[in-house]
Amino acid sequence: MLGDALFVIPERDCERVNKVDTSRKIVHIDMDAFFASVEQRDNPEYCGLPLVVGGNCARGVVAAASYEARQFGIRSAMAMQKALAKCPSLVVLPPRMETYKAVSLQIREIFQEYTDLVELLSLDEAFLDVTHNKKAIPSASWVAQQIRATIHERTGLTASAGVSFNKFLAKVASGMNKPNGFTLISPEQAPDFIAVLPIEKFFGVGKATADKMHRMGIATGADLLRYSLEELESAFGKAGRTYFHIARNNDLRPVNPDRERHSVGTEDTFEQDVRDRREISNRMAAIAHEVVRRMERSQFVGRTLTLKVKFADFRQITRSRTMDYPIREVDDIVAIAQQMFAGVTIPPKGVRLVGMTVSNVCRPGWTGWRQPMLPFFSECEPWTNT
Ligand SMILES: [Mg+2]
Repeated sequence: MLGDALFVIPERDCERVNKVDTSRKIVHIDMDAFFASVEQRDNPEYCGLPLVVGGNCARGVVAAASYEARQFGIRSAMAMQKALAKCPSLVVLPPRMETYKAVSLQIREIFQEYTDLVELLSLDEAFLDVTHNKKAIPSASWVAQQIRATIHERTGLTASAGVSFNKFLAKVASGMNKPNGFTLISPEQAPDFIAVLPIEKFFGVGKATADKMHRMGIATGADLLRYSLEELESAFGKAGRTYFHIARNNDLRPVNPDRERHSVGTEDTFEQDVRDRREISNRMAAIAHEVVRRMERSQFVGRTLTLKVKFADFRQITRSRTMDYPIREVDDIVAIAQQMFAGVTIPPKGVRLVGMTVSNVCRPGWTGWRQPMLPFFSECEPWTNT
């Protein structure tokens, strides 16, 4: 399980435990199976069929899966070959990023009719702070439902919404009744909600962290409450502080409309420490695929790749390389990472974690392009639409 290395609540956005702020009204909107739903909308013959968008080649990856495909156990970021093995009649379509971007823009315009405090997380997902919205609607639930209805009216697509008083709860809420769902978590409901929330649903908790928590007897938010800040920090580092505060509904992170991504990355904590160099290389390929998927989702391109390797004894090294061209292909990332990793000595007890991050953003005006931008999945053509 690949965790998001970026999710940590900064110290300044945590408050004293006895001062939980419940005054804000935060909405999280998440389009349902976005790329796949756009394809089903534009190709009605595919409605009701298991469909994925992604690269249909030996190393292709699922970028989005329709709900019909999910019933076969197909998920985004899964290898296309594995997806086809699960469902041989799967419809595989190449991504049409320009179309998805246009729809994303339509949705953004709807958000801005209500508030300028819109923080876009990706093409299909955003936080809105509607505490003081432009239409002076007192109920955040009402705002969320109006937005969902308007999205459906103007794009023919469905979105799910979550409403609460902080970002964490709003995001968890939007995922509760997907697709086409709506969930409100009020300040009164929040403590009971968090108490029974499985820790797997907490942001940033991947498989390895979840396993460790279970070994500590932590299965739910209520279990987290039994641990002190110091205990959680010593077990999980900075993320421990996040878990501590989330369990107390303490998340004062503002909805930040100016947020600009400076990097996109992910990391993989191995279930067991790995010593075999080839095994680590294989893991790197999977991480590179996920990094590319996330870059595509957030429309990010950068020139610097950073490799992080954490050893079994928690010692950590990083290596970076800056290229004179934008890094955006899986093969590029793997090749650069391998070169950097070749100079790393693996200690006898092995490697615990590998992470990769692309930074040093290439902005549209950047003149150093070695080659024109190509579609992300170009190496995968021709497409076969079964
Ligand atoms: Mg979505």
